[in-house]
Amino acid sequence: MKPEDHVWLDLLRGEIEQFRDSIRDLRVTPEIDLTDLRNHLNSRYRFDEPVETDELFEDLARLLREQTVHATHPRYFGLFNPSVTLPSIVGDALAALYNPQLAAWSHAPAVNEMERHVLASLAAAIGLDPTTTQANFTTGGAEANFSAVLVALASRIDDFVENGAGSTRPVIYVSSESHHSFHKIAVMTGLGTRAIRTIPVDSSLRIDPVALERQIVEDRRAAAVPLFIVATAGTTSAGTIDPIERLADLSAREGLWLHVDAAWGASYLLVPSLRSAFAGIERADSITWDAHKGLSVPMGAGMFFCRHREAVMKAFSVRTAYMPANEGGTTDPYSSTVQWTRRAIGLKLFVSLASLGFDGYREYLEHQTRMGERLRERLVAAEWSIVNDTPLPVVCFTNPSLENDPARHASFAGAIQSRGRVWISPTVIGGQTSALRACITSYQTNEEDLDVLMEELESPQASSRGFA
Ligand SMILES: *Cc1c(COP(=O)(O)O)cnc(C)c1O
Repeated sequence: MKPEDHVWLDLLRGEIEQFRDSIRDLRVTPEIDLTDLRNHLNSRYRFDEPVETDELFEDLARLLREQTVHATHPRYFGLFNPSVTLPSIVGDALAALYNPQLAAWSHAPAVNEMERHVLASLAAAIGLDPTTTQANFTTGGAEANFSAVLVALASRIDDFVENGAGSTRPVIYVSSESHHSFHKIAVMTGLGTRAIRTIPVDSSLRIDPVALERQIVEDRRAAAVPLFIVATAGTTSAGTIDPIERLADLSAREGLWLHVDAAWGASYLLVPSLRSAFAGIERADSITWDAHKGLSVPMGAGMFFCRHREAVMKAFSVRTAYMPANEGGTTDPYSSTVQWTRRAIGLKLFVSLASLGFDGYREYLEHQTRMGERLRERLVAAEWSIVNDTPLPVVCFTNPSLENDPARHASFAGAIQSRGRVWISPTVIGGQTSALRACITSYQTNEEDLDVLMEELESPQASSRGFA
């Protein structure tokens, strides 16, 4: 390496150390001036001549620190973006360094087999048979959900791969609390959003199986083809878990594909006391699980699990003259998944899981669960009401002074965000209850961080700005 290469590496190492050591001292939320930011980039980076390394790095680090919502901050009580483990950062850096091509097995045997091994271990943790489950890494939950719909279509409609849905009208059943990726998937698969039926939820925000069954009967009567049921295990807004066992019975009886979208929730399968909340998940035809949500690795690392290997191969199988042949007993990712050229997505999870072990992960997830319980207790003690019902650490809460008004909740959360000490968000539960939402997404969140959150919630500035 050239001397200037060492400068880069020293700077990177220093930044990793400093950022991780000082994260609690940083604001969670940036103070943004878009004009300033654009002017700075325009004037400083004309790309006409090289920028000196020290100067470039210092500016990069400053911009990233000051102009980012710090999702890895222990007081980011936010969307499902976690703190990331150091081994996973190293794993991701190694993926960048070696840049293995994961389209074909034969180009990257080591990482392909590491991914296969990690996926088989996680399949077993779900309760699936790792020897027959087909699984792959994806960019995220949206791609895993997309894969599930494509595989179900290929599996249940004989000539779907050749002719598309044609005049058959397959129907996808989601609940009003399901993730909105299914709307885009309906567009991407060519089914159109009219293929989606949105089933109401009961008072605990779980899909209503009776309404679902009624809708299936009605669709059959109208000559549509009931195809795909989405059970959400950890809804994005309120963290509720649909009655999977009951939906598995219904799918078996009616011959529908059951997909469990557990993008965030599935990681909590690793906590023994929470397993019963997911009862029946091993009966699903396919499952979505995001490592970049619950398993504290950098984005994006989604996972798609399917109990029907033949169906996956039918959906994605292609042969080309230019791709290298694979080894017997192996599968090429390009002919068994949505992607083609692909990064070594699973390497960071392999390194992190090997370094922490399932025990280490269980401790992190148990800690996060406990912090969620503590937060609930403290909110109740401070006379907030909890409006969601889940054993997972996402808490939705409100109080009468916010008058079930979405605008008041939004400005209350906005005022707190702008103070920069914690990040929480507004949400609407079940389409009718306005609430604030705080999710424990960092294994580093501790009691003192909850103190700060409570202080912010009770602070007169937050409420006076909220009611302005
Ligand atoms: C986040 C989420 C998704 C989408 O996953 P991405 O990784 O953002 O693509 C899908 N379903 C649920 C339940 C989610 O929480």
